[in-house]
Amino acid sequence: MEVLGGRGLLLKAGNTRIWLDSAAESDCMSLVSHAHLDHAPGRLSRIIATPETASVLSLFGSYRFEKLIRYGESIMLGDIRVSAHPSGHVIGSSQFLLENNDGSLVYTGDLNTYDSVILRGARPLESETLILEATYGSPRYIFPAREEVYARITRWIVETIRAGEIPAFKVYALGKAQEIIGLVNAYLRIPALASFTISRITESLSQYGFKLEYLPINSPEGLEAFKQGECVYVSSKRYSPPSRRRIRWAVATGWALRYRPSGFDAAFPLSGHADFSGLVRYAEESGAKRIYLVHGFADELAKHLRRRGLRAETLPLTP
Ligand SMILES: [Zn+2]
Repeated sequence: MEVLGGRGLLLKAGNTRIWLDSAAESDCMSLVSHAHLDHAPGRLSRIIATPETASVLSLFGSYRFEKLIRYGESIMLGDIRVSAHPSGHVIGSSQFLLENNDGSLVYTGDLNTYDSVILRGARPLESETLILEATYGSPRYIFPAREEVYARITRWIVETIRAGEIPAFKVYALGKAQEIIGLVNAYLRIPALASFTISRITESLSQYGFKLEYLPINSPEGLEAFKQGECVYVSSKRYSPPSRRRIRWAVATGWALRYRPSGFDAAFPLSGHADFSGLVRYAEESGAKRIYLVHGFADELAKHLRRRGLRAETLPLTP
């Protein structure tokens, strides 16, 4: 199996060509790791993804799906056996293991190795070749334990409500939104209100066993709870219905470890990606003989992995 970078990630094995979260031309087969749009540009056709990913993508575009693949299942693409495994990044996100007579390869997609309140962290898959994302592949990004970040968020929510204001989070509609709702469900006895887009996504995922308790902000119950004020509001846009109470806006992102986004009342280092330690551990435990790094701090992580005796290099991608 050969891996090429450039205008996307292409895997070639004999006559079989499989694009990974990309496709330079239409009518190519693409493995799509999750439903964030930077991994599923609109031109993709013949998509292979988990049912959860397909269900979210279908809300936002007219994608064509070749096959759906569940965690633990495998399918044949040419002479390549492809299996899907949880990647811990968002609901439905998958890492893919590809195997043929030639060898084995893992493509992680976006990866989180730590357990969250809604998802189990990704477990390393063994392979000869590994394509690993490196969003936070720098030693400057080592996150606090998730429980500690959860405790900080919970405290901030309680303090905000005590001050007579409404705590609100501006987060990705798929991923952090469900995690914040799950956190409110697990630790607080107040309603989580979700924006229209987040409600649609969360509702579509409920058929796969993700039963999160929330009220859509555009429902009478949601508006009533918002007016009453003892609630948490989760939205992908910094917009809320009018209220007599002040809204305190927070963000939850790994970048908050080093940067405080301007215009927000609070920022929490809660990430859907593995930090530097998680990525290094994954690379070592995969046993891969060859590692390609993509995205983020790919060069920096490649250098660190080489120092640890691994064969690692960056795979350049152009948008
Ligand atoms: Zn993502």
